[in-house]
Formats: sequence, C-alpha cells, structure tokens
Amino acid sequence: MTTNASQHTSSPSIPFLPLPETGVRHRMQHWIGGHWLDCDEGAPIASAMLDVEVASLPASIAPMEEAVHAARLHGRSALGQLDFARRGQMLRALAKHLLEHKEILYAWSFHTGATRKDSWIDIEGGIATLSAYAALAASELPSGRILHEGPPIALGKQGHWMGTHILVPREGVAVHINAFNFPVWGLLEKFAPCFLAGMPCVAKPASATAYLSEVLVRLIDASQILPRGSLQLILGPTGDLLDRLCEGDVVTFTGSADTALRLRSHPNILRRSVVFNAEADSLNSAILGPDVEPGTAEWDLMVREVVREMTVKAGQKCTAIRRVMVPRKHLDAMTQALSARLAAVRIGDSRLAEVTMGALASAAQREDVASQIARLRDDCELAFDAGAGASPLGEGLNLGAMMGPVLLRCAQPDAASTLHAVEAFGPVSTLMPYEDLDHALALAARGCGSLVASLYSHNTRDAARAVEAMAAWHGRLAVIDRDAASESTGHGSPLPMLKHGGPGRAGGGEELGGLRAVKSYMQRAAVQASPRIMAAITGEYVRGAPVIDSELHPFRRTFEDLHVGHSLLTHRRTVTEADIVAFGGISGDYFYMHFDEEAARASPFGKRIAHGYFVLSAAAGLFVHPSPGPVLANYGVDTLRFVKPVAIGDTIQARLTCKRKIDKTSRKPGEAAQGVVAWDVQVSNQHGELVASYDILTLVSKREQASAGQTTHPVGSTS
Ligand code: NAP
Repeated sequence: MTTNASQHTSSPSIPFLPLPETGVRHRMQHWIGGHWLDCDEGAPIASAMLDVEVASLPASIAPMEEAVHAARLHGRSALGQLDFARRGQMLRALAKHLLEHKEILYAWSFHTGATRKDSWIDIEGGIATLSAYAALAASELPSGRILHEGPPIALGKQGHWMGTHILVPREGVAVHINAFNFPVWGLLEKFAPCFLAGMPCVAKPASATAYLSEVLVRLIDASQILPRGSLQLILGPTGDLLDRLCEGDVVTFTGSADTALRLRSHPNILRRSVVFNAEADSLNSAILGPDVEPGTAEWDLMVREVVREMTVKAGQKCTAIRRVMVPRKHLDAMTQALSARLAAVRIGDSRLAEVTMGALASAAQREDVASQIARLRDDCELAFDAGAGASPLGEGLNLGAMMGPVLLRCAQPDAASTLHAVEAFGPVSTLMPYEDLDHALALAARGCGSLVASLYSHNTRDAARAVEAMAAWHGRLAVIDRDAASESTGHGSPLPMLKHGGPGRAGGGEELGGLRAVKSYMQRAAVQASPRIMAAITGEYVRGAPVIDSELHPFRRTFEDLHVGHSLLTHRRTVTEADIVAFGGISGDYFYMHFDEEAARASPFGKRIAHGYFVLSAAAGLFVHPSPGPVLANYGVDTLRFVKPVAIGDTIQARLTCKRKIDKTSRKPGEAAQGVVAWDVQVSNQHGELVASYDILTLVSKREQASAGQTTHPVGSTS
C-alpha cells in the first residue's frame, strides 16, 4: 500500500457511519498520523449476532514505519507541550463527546454479540475510565509535566545535598494490543493513563471486533480534541511493528498467554528492554465461606454472582469466575441453586426483551470454547448444560457463535490438572468441593496467578485469613457479604482506581490503579542536588532553598500572582500557662501532660507542655491575614509532625511558604475559578529548633474571580 497524502482522507466532523442495519459492509481503515488510509478491502468480519458480514479489514498491513514516526515526531512533541492539567481537560472533553455519541457505539456493539448491559460495561465503562483519569489529573497530579515523588530527603547533615525521585514520560511510543472482548473499554482504559502520562500510543484491536474500536476512533477523530499522533489505530497483523520499537517504548498486551509469550520473547523486545505489560488467561476463583449456609445472604450473593459472571459478555470476561469452591457438604445444594438460575438464561438476539445472554464474539470463539470444555471434561462431569433448551431466540442469527451456559463439576479437585490450567473463555464455570478454608485457598492458588478472587463470607476471621493467603496469587480480592451487598461492584469489575492485573498465569502485569497506571508510562529517576536546584527541578519549594520574601502577605495574592517560594516569616509569640488553661477550656482536652504538674514531671518531657493542637492553632494565628482575600478555604493538613515539645515560656514563630500550586481546571457550573495551593509551615522555638512541621492545603481564587470582588464561601476556615 502506498500512503502518500493524496490517498489519505481526514474526517473533521462526525463521519457518516454505515450502521450495520443498512446492510452496508463497513470498510475499516488504519488511522495513521491523523489520516484515514485508503486501501483495498480485505478479510470480511461477520456479526456475532446476525448471519451477516458487517465490516472488512484493510487488505494491507498498516505502514508501521509511518505510524511509529508519527507517534515519535508529532504525538510525543505535541503531548510534551501539554501539562497534566491540559491533558486531563482533553480526556474530560473526550469523555463528554463520546457520551453524546454513544448510541453509535451501541449500534455497532450489538454485532459483537453483546446485550445492552454488556455494551454498557464496554462503552460507558470505557468512557467512565476516561472521566476517572481526567478527575485524577485535577485532584492528584501537579501543575507542570514532571511528577515528583517527594518529599526530598536530606543526604547531608547540613541540608545542602538532597535526594528525591521524579517521573517523566517515557520517550517513545506505547503499542496497545487488545483482546476481542472489550473493544471500547480495552482501548480507552489503556489510552487514558498513557495520554495523561504524556506518551503517544498506537492501538491494535483484536480483529474479530475491531470494527467497534475503529468506529470509536472515528468518533475520537471527529471530536478534534486530541493532538495529532497522540493516538493511532492499526488493524489486522502488526507486521514489523515490534522490530521498530526501541528502548523508550512500551507494549501493553491483553489476550492469550500463548500470544503474550510469543510477543514478550520477541528478540527486539528483549534486546532493547522494551517495557512489556501483559494481561493474559486467568482462572479466577469464587469461594463460599465455611460459615455460609444455604438461604443466607452470602449464599444468595454467591449464586447471583457466579451466574452473572457466566452470562455477562457470554462469559468472555478476563475476570469471569472460572472455578467455584464450596464446602463439600454444600456441593449438591450449590449445583442445584446454580442450575436453576442457569436454566432461566435465554440466549439469542439481544434486542428481544426476553433475551438475557448474547453470543460469543465469533463462530471460531465458540469452537475454541467447545474444545476447552472437552479438555476440562478430563477432570469434570457436566453439571448443567442447557443443550437443546438453549435454542437461541430471534431470526437470522449467527447460530455458529451462540452457546448456552455450561456448568461443570469436579468431585476430586486435588487430583485434577486441566481444571486449574485450562480457561474456557465463554459461559463456562466449574464447581468443586473443599474440605476446609485452607484447602480452598490452596485450590485457588493452583490457578498459578489470577486476576481476581472473591470470598462470600460474613466472618471477619475467615476473610482476614483468606485475603492474606490469596493476595500473593491474585491482583484483586473482593470479600462480598450482606453489609457490602447494596454497593458492591461485584467480582468481575475492574475499576479505574484499583489495580487490574495478576501475577503468574494472568500475565504478571498491572493496569489501571489510578496514578500507578500513569506512572507505568513514565520513567522514574532519582535526583540528587542542592535544595535550590531541587526546587527548580521539581517546581516545588524545598526546605533550604531560597524563599521570596515580599511586602505583600502571601494570602493577599491571587493564584496567578503567587509563586512557589513566596514566604512569610511571622512575628513571635510566647506561650503562657494562661494559653494552656484557655485552650484546655475551649477544647475540653485536660490531658495530664498539660495540666498535671506531678505526672508531667514524671514523663519523658519532665514538665508540663502545651497542646500540640494549640501550637497548630497559634501558628495559624501568626500567619493568617484576617481580611477577606483570595484564599478561600483551608481544606486540610498534610504530613503534620510535632517535632519537639513547647513548654510554658517558650517563644514560637512560624514560616509559611508557598510549596506547590495545582491549577484546578475542572469547574462545576457557578464554581469560582481557583487553584490548590499547598503551603509549607515550619514552627520554631526561641532556639531556632523546629517544633512543628506540616503542609496546609488551601483553595486560592484566580484573578478574574478576585477582581470581580465576589466572595466565595469557604468550606472551612482559612486557618
Ligand atoms: P489472542 O489471540 O492472544 O489475541 C490478542 C491480541 O493479540 C489480538 O489483538 C490479536 O490480534 C493480537 N495478536 C495475536 N497474535 C499476534 C502476533 N503474532 N503479533 C501481534 N499481535 C498478535 O487472544 P484473543 O483470542 O483475542 O483473546 C482471548 C484470550 O485473551 C483469552 O484467553 C483470555 O483469557 C485473554 N484475555 C485476557 C484478559 C486480561 O485482562 N487478562 C482480557 C481479555 C482477554 P488479531 O485478533 O488480529 O489476531
């Protein structure tokens, strides 16, 4: 394929999408460097739901050299000019745009075999992940482009030599290779933290459902929100892409363990230490607690959860429950309870109200699941198979991709081998008995590393024991009981703020987990320097660095006029017994150390001392400016330490220094324009010794707000 400019087409507005219902086969295109590449029509892709072809892959492999070049040249440099706040704003805008056009995605998602609920998980789950990372940028990431993992530590006795860690974006391209089961969520959950970190990416969806990812990228393109080259899409084989990667690049993979092994052992990936993250097969467990009896809340929760995990996305979820463990005495009762519910599952055309489970992603996938069931039958008997009762409802269906749920049962799980090694990636689970909790935990560990396990128990001792034992073998653990039931997100839902990934067989990777995922696209470096240089590097005030003393009280400065390092050294105050008595009266804190001369003398301090909270309050009295001004609220105190006692007769003084500024970009309607300012506070005594140390967190209004003379009501006091 030639890829000169005349053969590229751009899509500045929402493209006409030949919705599958029109019967027009959608010709997918690679999206490289902001252009849709024309190319001949390649292999057709069948709808999983209906007996029609809905799309076709491009006939030619994407021009990998061009893709990598566009990412390195345009994507990287464009992202490098945006700070965390701006990238977060773009994610937020993108989420809004996609939400507005989500019905286009739902229409295509139907053909992946999904029910409306399945599509909701994929589509709105993906969009929610974008929003979650946008929120993270606003709340947890600093202004600027460097992430500082402070605080700096003193490396010398006099404080002239310090050390800390910073993170910067890896200087390369991230290649995201996705599985077929979540064409929207899979692409967005990898893209969001990568984009926020400042790394461009090339997304490669699995071919069976790539049309939905392609439509998603068309919508993203139409939004014109992302800088050119920050996201690209390649379809079908990856050609020589992995050969073109180098030291600063990243590959994140979701799919089978076999493919993961092939890709992670690619010579170029190994030779150049390309970061490789894998999410692969996982034999996730659900354990009924030893304390649980039929008819209890936890019993019902487990039955519901197992059936849900077997049927949502027709069991094609990496986190689905594959192994169900119950006390031996409950094996029959659990078999009956699950079978009764599975018998009520109706498969077929998910537009029909009575249909509760859709199709597998393709006929090939169904064949694959059938062959895995045959292997599992070496160890297991059939406990439930709807068989003929599972006749799909609807007309014109792709019957080759439809199958009813299958429950297997293994009476001797210790002797079994395939049970703990073979994943049937469909509506399939295996029930097995255990003798005691330790036995159940040992069976769970035989999965050799899984994404998730859930325990259904109301017993605190069992829960603590199980979680401690299983944490070494699982990426996530959910303890589900009656207390959590009303809010539980269940066994199978990875959440943006929690780690997704598991050790061993599950690939050994980590995705999501809030800031952790962003950091996985960044390079950490230890930095050693003087405080002055350290402050310049990190963009944060570091103790020992020069401060900016100014006539104007720092609390009188708007967010824009305030600079990191602006500082105030307060007047002094001598602490008296009257202060201690008054503070005891106000607070009700008559702790012996402040009021009992004899007991205090016998204490390590040898005398009565002031309340720590009095020192904190007195310091606020020293540094606040009382008049209304740009500082709107104090919403917290971080890293508080009472370093030395303050006794009656000691004289304290505070230094307040602007330490860190975070430009708060997200505004609810009517909310004032403002930023977050963290202030370093040092309280010293008459000998210059530090007695208290902390950061206070304030909201500071911006110029437009302050000059409009509006007053915003603080959420707390300013001190
Ligand atoms: P797969 O065959 O391993 O394919 C996964 C991805 O790798 C697809 O995009 C595929 O592209 C691509 N791929 C395959 N061979 C490649 C090669 N030689 N070079 C570059 N890319 C290659 O897995 P799948 O059948 O799509 O997914 C099912 C499996 O994924 C299940 O076993 C399931 O356990 C696992 N899975 C795991 C997770 C998780 O988070 N742990 C999530 C979902 C699925 P093509 O489609 O174009 O071949």
